[in-house]
Amino acid sequence: MARLLLIEDDPAIRTTLLRSLRERGHAVAAAAAAMEGLQTALAERPDLIVLDLGLPDLDGRELLRMLRAVSRIPVIVATARDEETEMVRLLDAGADDYVVKPFTAAQLDARVRAVLRRGSGAPGTAPVLEVGGLRIDQSARTVTLDGAGVELTPREFDLLHHLALRAGQVVTKRELLSEVWQVPYGGADKTVDVHLSWLRRKLGETAQEPRYLHTVRGVGVKLSGPA
Ligand code: CA
Repeated sequence: MARLLLIEDDPAIRTTLLRSLRERGHAVAAAAAAMEGLQTALAERPDLIVLDLGLPDLDGRELLRMLRAVSRIPVIVATARDEETEMVRLLDAGADDYVVKPFTAAQLDARVRAVLRRGSGAPGTAPVLEVGGLRIDQSARTVTLDGAGVELTPREFDLLHHLALRAGQVVTKRELLSEVWQVPYGGADKTVDVHLSWLRRKLGETAQEPRYLHTVRGVGVKLSGPA
């Protein structure tokens, strides 16, 4: 069971999703407009937000940016467009996942559970992974680099964590899409590239001058300590 907030202006979609998500055991609050949704999100602190992009008072992307400025509550965006550029833009703006309309309650519920599973992390006994000066605390889901904290989004953490579990090995983008994004097939390499570039920036390196994240052209990426 999760506490969800559904921000959707279409009354028919809202009513249907409310009912079916509740039937699936979630506690669901709903808002019909962006500002109402933002207020509810801050007041109720739900476990996850399902955000429609086409809202009457404010573009959903703008609301996503406002939310991300103040909170890390996971957000699944409901978008009418299945375009790679749009998807990358949404992930760039801080969405954790997306569903393309029209979608079923079962599809949405699967995404909700996947996002929450990622967020809940490993059990409390999980050890700290160390690669060079990188320390990845699996239970606290925190990362330090040479002793300084590195602020990562849940997805960036999962990406780094997955690479750290296979430190020294080349991991393919296919595997990352499947294991980190839980996209069983298909999916866009571009998504991985974009997140890798954010991760690089946060680790203070570039693809041209890597310290930890080494691209193996045509194969994938490898995490290893600086030589
Ligand atoms: Ca709408």
